[in-house]
Amino acid sequence: MADMNWDLTDYFPEFNGPEMVAFKATIESDLADLLQKATGLSVLDVDNQTDWEDVFVRYEDLMTRVGHIGSYVGCLTSVDANNEEYSKLEADLSRLGAEVSKLSVELLRALKDATDDVFGQFVGRAALGDAAYALGRMRRDAQFTMDALREGLAADLGVDGIHAWGRLYDTLSGKLEFDMVHPDGKTEKLPMSQRRSLMEKSDRAVRQTAFESGNEAWAGVADVTASALNAIAGTRLTLNGYRGVDHFLDVACFQAAITQKTLGAMLEAIHSEIELGRRILRLKADVMGRDTVAWYDLNAPLPLADDEPLGWQAGKDLVHDSFSRSYPKLGDFVQQMYDDNWVEWAPRAGKRPGAFCTGSKRIKQSRIFMTYNNTIGDVITLAHEAGHAFHSYILREKRSFASRYPMTLAESASTFGEMILMEGIMENPEVSDKQKALTLDMEVGHGAAYLMDIPARFEFEKAFYQARQKGELSVSEIKDLMVETQRHIFGDVLEEGSEDPYFWASKLHFYITGVTFYNYPYTFGFLLSRGLFALFQKEGPDFLPRYEDFLRLTGSDTCENVVKQSIGQDLEKPDFWVQAIRGMEVPLGQLEDILPRVLNNNG
Ligand SMILES: [Zn+2]
Repeated sequence: MADMNWDLTDYFPEFNGPEMVAFKATIESDLADLLQKATGLSVLDVDNQTDWEDVFVRYEDLMTRVGHIGSYVGCLTSVDANNEEYSKLEADLSRLGAEVSKLSVELLRALKDATDDVFGQFVGRAALGDAAYALGRMRRDAQFTMDALREGLAADLGVDGIHAWGRLYDTLSGKLEFDMVHPDGKTEKLPMSQRRSLMEKSDRAVRQTAFESGNEAWAGVADVTASALNAIAGTRLTLNGYRGVDHFLDVACFQAAITQKTLGAMLEAIHSEIELGRRILRLKADVMGRDTVAWYDLNAPLPLADDEPLGWQAGKDLVHDSFSRSYPKLGDFVQQMYDDNWVEWAPRAGKRPGAFCTGSKRIKQSRIFMTYNNTIGDVITLAHEAGHAFHSYILREKRSFASRYPMTLAESASTFGEMILMEGIMENPEVSDKQKALTLDMEVGHGAAYLMDIPARFEFEKAFYQARQKGELSVSEIKDLMVETQRHIFGDVLEEGSEDPYFWASKLHFYITGVTFYNYPYTFGFLLSRGLFALFQKEGPDFLPRYEDFLRLTGSDTCENVVKQSIGQDLEKPDFWVQAIRGMEVPLGQLEDILPRVLNNNG
């Protein structure tokens, strides 16, 4: 087995050992049995509830076991991406996943045509009580489907239709090149995938040419990308009609477990507080000695090098000490994680990039994957992933059906962890001003992305779908819509004429065919946890039990109800969101204060 920091023996004593082999074989045979039983049952009714209860309860247990081995192999392949034995197990599990989907189809069939009375009785059974919310969601999901024949046809045609447009976009953007003119005059053909990092360079001229020459390339393929965008939206709108979905945002809101009213309240608050987001960009302009920013300045770094390396021990301590100082229970939790070796952190060959938190409800444990390169950003990643692990810890006694939460609630505990760390860093006399500035810049930079960039994407997409209901849009109509939205959100802080008219073409997110309105849940999650943090700052430690109630309920109800029941706030009103956004004033004020000092010392 490859070298790794984390201890995985609680999953299985050894890879491909007798325990693991038997475990996998039992899942396979149980799944086959269960599929056979479910297929033989008619729609849920008064007289077959005991049988269906058995199917649902065993399905839940099976999912827990599949999740256990899935998490295990996920850990292994991330550390050693080229190991063929691991890849083989991964392929076996994806075949298993296809069988699980067949079983899910049977569960949806059971619920779809069950009457309200029968369903009410069913979820009232003792063995299913706290699964009522999850089953209700499955039922609603099933009700927004066409009959089996039409759904089957739509799925088959989707391969050559909507998904083919998505694949065409992937191929096109993967092959697209642009002529990059370097400051020394040298011109080079570069793949589009390199443009993003060039637009994050400190040299403004580099960012500008990358932006302009990149957009020339996008202009050359705009007819194709516009066709893809029109076709993807058109297919969704047509299917919505057949499935009885009234509004294109209903699907997105259902997936996010929120109402359209909540989404509206959040956006209303973003607009009423839009000056705060613009102030962040004004500070950025200021550092560059300008009044406004251009589109290609949005990801410009501070002129500060992250060159004060923080060793692993120092990084670990910083997270632990910051957590312990304001939230002792979280501090103890992270210490336990260190002691039990739950974190894979060392840089090594063959390791995948990125970071994640995974876990198993079977052993009630989590594991954190990351690569620690001694930067303050890595310390923040550790706090972020530790927040996810804490969320699972709080949910550990909940059944699997009551532990699945939507994307809108998924980032609350992680962002909360980040904010506690940042507060700890700011109060820590051993952290240099420069590192404090880098930390604040990261936090404030997130603010700009979540308050300006993502709302602009959402507003563009919403307007596009609105217009698309009446017919296809031309390239110039889409460009105009994009520029209009950017002007509306960014206002006068964005230099006139420096918008990005091809943003819709270059952004992959608009072409992900599996998820509709992919972007806004990030803003939702960010602001929700800022709102929680604002309450914590106001109420102190008394707030923490209610915060834990919030985490404990995340798989048991809609976002609105979870928040109402745990912390007594109303997400359908803008007030909560306004407070959350105003919380950004603190780090922004600190950054405005500290920047002139560190920039002067930097020469
Ligand atoms: Zn996360």
